[in-house]
Amino acid sequence: MLFNELNLIEPILNALQTEGYTQPTPIQEQSIPSILQGRDLLGCAQTGTGKTAAFAIPMLQLLSKPHTNTKVHKAIKALVLTPTRELAIQIEESFKAYGKNLPLKHLVIFGGVGQKAQTDALHRGVDILVATPGRLLDLMNQGFVNLKDIEIFVLDEADRMLDMGFIHDVKKVIAKLPAKRQTLFFSATMPKEIQILANTILTDPIKVEV
Ligand code: AMP
Repeated sequence: MLFNELNLIEPILNALQTEGYTQPTPIQEQSIPSILQGRDLLGCAQTGTGKTAAFAIPMLQLLSKPHTNTKVHKAIKALVLTPTRELAIQIEESFKAYGKNLPLKHLVIFGGVGQKAQTDALHRGVDILVATPGRLLDLMNQGFVNLKDIEIFVLDEADRMLDMGFIHDVKKVIAKLPAKRQTLFFSATMPKEIQILANTILTDPIKVEV
């Protein structure tokens, strides 16, 4: 299968061509069509399988559709939560690469650095926010981030969130998301607590295992 058989829009196909991608990886082939249909997804996949592009590509396409609700013009439309700064930076790089021909704005935020550059960027407006849980909660509590208009939520590496002691923060963030949203849930392993969380936050998900 080729990327141009996945009903992707021209600006994305051109960006993928620039990246030198011709064929989707198995997780991309299995995930992209369902995500484009608006389905929730439970993905069991390790880093290195192409899972970032599996969610980033269809998210860019969904978010580049003209929005009917003009009031939410400046609101954050998509949130990706990931456990580490390194992963957060990589994910934002992916949105930048695959979205380079689209007018969407993305931002990455993480702790351990000053917050001024991050809050300035939030004020300018962000469509897609990539974040680690601690800094996100911090900025939410200070009133710099409002998640009420999130349409797509991605929980990346859920099992590592648990291992690193972030699951409580993750749940606090999830509690602030609108109930009506699309949720994409990724975890390399499925310990009991992660299974329960997945069951709680996903609605009739398609399951992809690679
Ligand atoms: P990930 O599993 O998301 O960390 O991606 C692993 C690596 O594979 C990254 O360096 C991507 O740039 C690369 N990659 C992802 N999808 C494709 C693809 N369809 N063709 C070639 N390389 C890819």
